Amino acid sequence: MNTAGFSFPVSPALKARLAKLGIAGDADLLLHLPLRYEDETRLHPIATLRVGEYAQIQATVREVEVSARPRRSLKLAVEDAGGSLLVRFLHFYPSQLKEFQPGRIFRFSGEARGGFFGLEMVHPRYRRVEDPTAPLPESLTPVYPTTAGLSQSALRRLIEQALAQADLADTLAADLLTGLGLPDFAASVHFLHRPPADIPPAALEARNHPAFRRLAFDELLAQQLSLRRARARHRQSDAPVLDAAGRLAAALRAALPFALTAAQEKAWREIAADLARPHPMRRLLQGDVGSGKTVVAALACLAAVEAGYQAALMAPTEILAEQHYRKLCLWLAPLGLEVGWFASALPAAEKRRVREALASGRIALAVGTHALFQNEVAFARLGLAVVDEQHRFGVAQRLALAHKGGEPHLLMMSATPIPRTLAMSYYADLDVSVIDALPPGRSLVATRLASETRRAEVLARVREVCLTGGQAYWVCPLVEESEKLELQAALDTYDALRGQLPELSVGLVHGRMKAQEKNAVMAAFQAGAVQLLVATTVIEVGVDVPNASLMVIEHAERMGLAQLHQLRGRVGRGSRASVCVLLYQTPLSEAARARLKVIYENTDGFEIARQDLLLRGPGEFLGARQSGAPLLRFADPERHIDLLDAARAAAATLLAQAPQDAAAHLARWLGSRQAWLGG
Ligand code: ADP
Ligand code: MG
Repeated sequence: MNTAGFSFPVSPALKARLAKLGIAGDADLLLHLPLRYEDETRLHPIATLRVGEYAQIQATVREVEVSARPRRSLKLAVEDAGGSLLVRFLHFYPSQLKEFQPGRIFRFSGEARGGFFGLEMVHPRYRRVEDPTAPLPESLTPVYPTTAGLSQSALRRLIEQALAQADLADTLAADLLTGLGLPDFAASVHFLHRPPADIPPAALEARNHPAFRRLAFDELLAQQLSLRRARARHRQSDAPVLDAAGRLAAALRAALPFALTAAQEKAWREIAADLARPHPMRRLLQGDVGSGKTVVAALACLAAVEAGYQAALMAPTEILAEQHYRKLCLWLAPLGLEVGWFASALPAAEKRRVREALASGRIALAVGTHALFQNEVAFARLGLAVVDEQHRFGVAQRLALAHKGGEPHLLMMSATPIPRTLAMSYYADLDVSVIDALPPGRSLVATRLASETRRAEVLARVREVCLTGGQAYWVCPLVEESEKLELQAALDTYDALRGQLPELSVGLVHGRMKAQEKNAVMAAFQAGAVQLLVATTVIEVGVDVPNASLMVIEHAERMGLAQLHQLRGRVGRGSRASVCVLLYQTPLSEAARARLKVIYENTDGFEIARQDLLLRGPGEFLGARQSGAPLLRFADPERHIDLLDAARAAAATLLAQAPQDAAAHLARWLGSRQAWLGG
């Protein structure tokens, strides 16, 4: 199969333009599907054309006029046997003036509009007809996504050529296709590029025709094959066996003020079993906010350390990383272990010291932001990398991390549960452990929605909670456009609250503070000396103060669902009845109203994530859009769940029984493209 490159000559200039569309060969051309279709299989008599109708006419140019008013435009009076019409171009080239000579015949496709001078078409698509009896096309006309310098007709010709010359052999066995009710590959691509005229274009554009489902299936299958291959590669590559006796883990457990929940125990057993194998673990640990993932991660780190390796824990924000750092110091110092701290804000000399300690292996355990995994940090013998809230990093970083320092075991943790369909699709190369129960003694958080006009009531509530021994968070508005404005909003809120609640001790944390100041405020809040903590969304993840039972979130309508759920999870950790107040500003947009409704009605992180996916779509949800990771182009794991199940099964069978078919399929589908996550 010739899947690399084109089977016909393509000039370098054209190649460059095609590359902009992600097209590097025949297979890519075949899979470059039309955005929509136009029906040019019929000619509509002008006399019976109605306003609003989209139609193709064949007409002779009678008059050509360039008018300067009301704006410069090119007007053509055209007519067929029974009627006449005005064609207008607001932008045109001199070449067009020459083309439209009176007496010439053209086919125009466009929407008929009611104009000042009667029926007109503005900017119709057109084609000159040398022979008025020339046959009409028999199939719908595809309209492709294209790029500057590449015309529709040029792209059409290329795809036509690919359809005629490329290898369209099926990569799937006939009985598999019959079982799924899917047409063969050649028929499907022919159909999608050249659909017969009797199919309404709208039915095709809805993307549920069997020919389209066939491509969706192929794509899902390629994704599953690629992820399975990645997984198989991991299974074959070497990783340190971390199977020490468990002395350190036992010591930590004995010192903890609580026992692990059954759900934590189960997750830990699964992780420990992975670590004891000579192949790198690739495991995602999911658990709702507050479910206790950190202690499980700590046990895993201890397994690495006891086996003579290093472990590293990375978190997406400095505050969260610091929180982990403090917790690990608290837990591990009594065991005689030093924990290293690494963040980009560290003074250069200190950075150098930690870097050297990691490179020499003197420090066995390091906590930090993603600065920990930047190129200049080398580990003497990294055995385990733990990444908290990994979905925030996007896929690219996850891969970069996996290739850092040989093949360490990798544990990813997320409090934003990946809905089942996405997990099956994009995370098929990972094993998943779920902590599906919260530790005992958690109280349910009551959620209240309050419009900004009820601010006074909310303030009274804050006062009451804090004056009766409780503590509260006040989360400042998110200002996406500017960090500076966000900081200003936080400072303003802090000043206002201090004025309005003079009897309370109020503290402030924000992202631009020096680590030392931030630590001091957090420590004061932890100790109860600060009663009301005003914060930007830096406290979104990981902050843990059980005595805080009230959270007010300002401009909640600006925040995403995952963010709101994470924030709300900061309360309800102690014995006090907890409340989360979502202050919002009216008027609410449709989307904001939908988000607030979801967060008000649901407390289960999995359900919230599912709704989030429905509201935002997979690209935004996975953060893949920012990281540039390839998304599925044809398949939608939610809508094509039946195909996804089938693709998973087919991938397993193909790899086991017909690896050469699997390779051919991948070659067609990945071709020039980057592999999905597994790489
Ligand atoms: P998350 O899963 O959101 O990262 P954390 O690991 O921060 O949750 O745990 C939340 C809080 O619950 C911490 O204070 C932690 O020490 C505590 N915790 C963890 N496991 C248990 C348990 N089994 N029993 C009681 N408290 C626990
Ligand atoms: Mg956490």
